[in-house]
Amino acid sequence: MVRRLTVLYHSDFKEHDPGQVKHPEAPRRLDIALKSVMDVASSTPGNRVSVVGAPRGSLEVFKRVHDIVYVERVKLILRTRRFEWLDRDTYVSRGTLESLRRLAGASQKAVTLALRGVSSFILGRPPSHHAGVSGRAMGAPSMGFCLFNATALVARVLSDHGRVAVIDFDVHHGNGTQEIFYSNPGILHIDIHVDPSVSYPGTGYPEDVGEGEGAGTKVNIVTPHMAGDDIYRNALRLVEAILDSWKPDYIVVSAGFDAYRGDNEMVLMNVGTRFYYTIGRMLSTKAKAVVSVLEGGYGSGLERALKAYIAGITGLKDWPWDPTSQSSNTAWRTYRMYRRLTIASILKHRKISLPKRIARIAKALGPRVKVKRRKRRFRRYIF
Ligand SMILES: [Zn+2]
Repeated sequence: MVRRLTVLYHSDFKEHDPGQVKHPEAPRRLDIALKSVMDVASSTPGNRVSVVGAPRGSLEVFKRVHDIVYVERVKLILRTRRFEWLDRDTYVSRGTLESLRRLAGASQKAVTLALRGVSSFILGRPPSHHAGVSGRAMGAPSMGFCLFNATALVARVLSDHGRVAVIDFDVHHGNGTQEIFYSNPGILHIDIHVDPSVSYPGTGYPEDVGEGEGAGTKVNIVTPHMAGDDIYRNALRLVEAILDSWKPDYIVVSAGFDAYRGDNEMVLMNVGTRFYYTIGRMLSTKAKAVVSVLEGGYGSGLERALKAYIAGITGLKDWPWDPTSQSSNTAWRTYRMYRRLTIASILKHRKISLPKRIARIAKALGPRVKVKRRKRRFRRYIF
């Protein structure tokens, strides 16, 4: 299936800038990402990929997903227009206000396009998915470079117009998005991420399924460290089965490319381009429109995985693959244990039905498996 993709970008997204401070979430990420987009655009026939300027919007729109007091506090800090740490890894800078205004505008534009059946990719900064209702989400130690959640905003607005699924394949758990929709039964959230017992933000266990009316609409798929294509493509089969049950009109993607092999030093994973192509291609067939929002990805993930994802979304064939990676037996053991718990949690709440071949996996659970949750101590932060 051939799809057109509108990439929403503006140079103001680079105004959020740590300057002299060495930080992985820096403007150069967008230079790499934009080059990747241009490379794919030039190799796609019939202008399938077009880059359009992200319009300027108002920060007020973020009050649809964040606490009003939180939005006002951030606005107050941004007005000082100076570099400041909000916690041990999240900063604001002189130009952050400009970047966030474009993020608000791009989110609104993405919604307008989606309602017309056009898929888009918000190529912006700062990232979104760790920003919860009032900043730090679900007891995380920090806001993980994020200030306002554009992914959640797009999903929230689109849910007024149809069924929405949020898919998050950034290597870290999308704790902010999950917190925002935790009791919302109208938004399905599937999050594939690395084992929370060994990585930031330390949330996203299979039993975390939402609460109240929303229980059973949040799905956490956990992968082990150094997981390769084989595990990720297995996880994709589960994602596809869940989407077939949910039947979304719109899909909003937290598109992070930090699980790509060698992308960064924060989390070591071994996923290749084939996964990113396959998930892009699969998602493009499951809804009227797919809105992707750039989350993580710091080096090779933005160079190679992003390209493969766009090739998949637009239905481009014959993409050059990396050699497929195999996960170790230990990694498979950990993955299988978590996968059973995920499937058992889905079946328990009956909001999603699964084909028998997948449902059977949960039956092999045997005695209750106890997953060790990491205990953490918090320092004092602004939020
Ligand atoms: Zn990440």
